[in-house]
Amino acid sequence: MPVSDKHRIPTRDLDTPPRLLLGPGPSNAHPRVLRALSNRQVGHLDPTFIELMNEVQSLLKYVWQTDNPVTIPVSGTGSAAMEAAVANMVEAGDSVLVGVNGYFGLRMVDMASRYGAEVTRMTAPWGTAFDLDTIRSHMEACRPRVLGLVHAETSTGARQPLEGVRELCDEFDCLLLIDTVTSMGGVELYLDEWGVDAAYAGTQKCLSCPPGLGPLTLGPRVLERLEKRTKPVPNWYLDMSLVGKYWGSERTYHHTAPINMNYGLREALRLIAEEGLEARWERHRTTARMFWDGLAEMGLSCHVDEDIRLPSLTTVKVPDGVDPGRVAKTLLTEYNIEIAGGLGELAGKVWRVGLMGFNSRPENVMLLLAALKDVLNR
Ligand SMILES: *Cc1c(COP(=O)(O)O)cnc(C)c1O
Repeated sequence: MPVSDKHRIPTRDLDTPPRLLLGPGPSNAHPRVLRALSNRQVGHLDPTFIELMNEVQSLLKYVWQTDNPVTIPVSGTGSAAMEAAVANMVEAGDSVLVGVNGYFGLRMVDMASRYGAEVTRMTAPWGTAFDLDTIRSHMEACRPRVLGLVHAETSTGARQPLEGVRELCDEFDCLLLIDTVTSMGGVELYLDEWGVDAAYAGTQKCLSCPPGLGPLTLGPRVLERLEKRTKPVPNWYLDMSLVGKYWGSERTYHHTAPINMNYGLREALRLIAEEGLEARWERHRTTARMFWDGLAEMGLSCHVDEDIRLPSLTTVKVPDGVDPGRVAKTLLTEYNIEIAGGLGELAGKVWRVGLMGFNSRPENVMLLLAALKDVLNR
């Protein structure tokens, strides 16, 4: 039988445009990370890969400032790590409290509900954060087993302060789960100091690695609950009692690790260690400050109050009479610069600009400000 030739077969080599990715993610990978990705493969149980897995785990612990025993890159993007956290921490019928002040809080609600939790939404306007009194009153009402908060809300540009949340969680015997996708490697984070029980991230934001892995960390309290579960984690691929054996001492096959992505992540994390965490956080603050000052000079303002404004993601208010989609499109087609519009409550009201990892540099700020000025003056 002849093979069908009805499918389109591309004949041209792939030639991607040189975009500057200044949106909410992905951000541009560091050239050293791209080089690391192209190293030749080894097997997923090769002694050299096992050594690399150990290196990645300790680098992740450094960047998160945690000693959590299970600290590994989940195969998949940030959402896979988010789902791994939820699947392993939540049992059907558990009361779960989630802070919803943006799009990713909503995603956490959706995931926890799918795993059978009784979810309570604690809501606040998009672009604000929760204070301890608000969290306490919700905890009193729903007595949660898990409290989920988004440390860096990429849909709004707001940072959730975490000081004092652990004490509340201790009072209510509650696990603390934190989304650090847009803060890990760009914004101050002290997971152990803040008593965070579990956190997740993605490689494609401040880590400057392409999308494909989702760092996940689970502390002793989470592992204890995982052991005591009455039913297995309902998601086979993300069951950390199985995956943990591959990354831990047993090294038994569960699924094939994305080998080359792990090369990339290792290099991305090594770059952070080389720069130093504090210097890296400081660089993100300085670059963001330069951007905010430049916006103010152009008469533009930011949506989020400065004390909780993320250096990694800024929401810029769209001036009256300006079509935000058209501006973003012109920046992309004429300047090769990607920024994004608002989501949900902020749709049509803001642009979202990411200055993450490798991209957090003065020349990118100057270029974006000049381009934005040009496009807005038309
Ligand atoms: C990007 C992002 C995610 C999801 O990560 P993906 O890599 O898109 O799956 C989750 N939470 C926050 C805060 C994010 O910014």
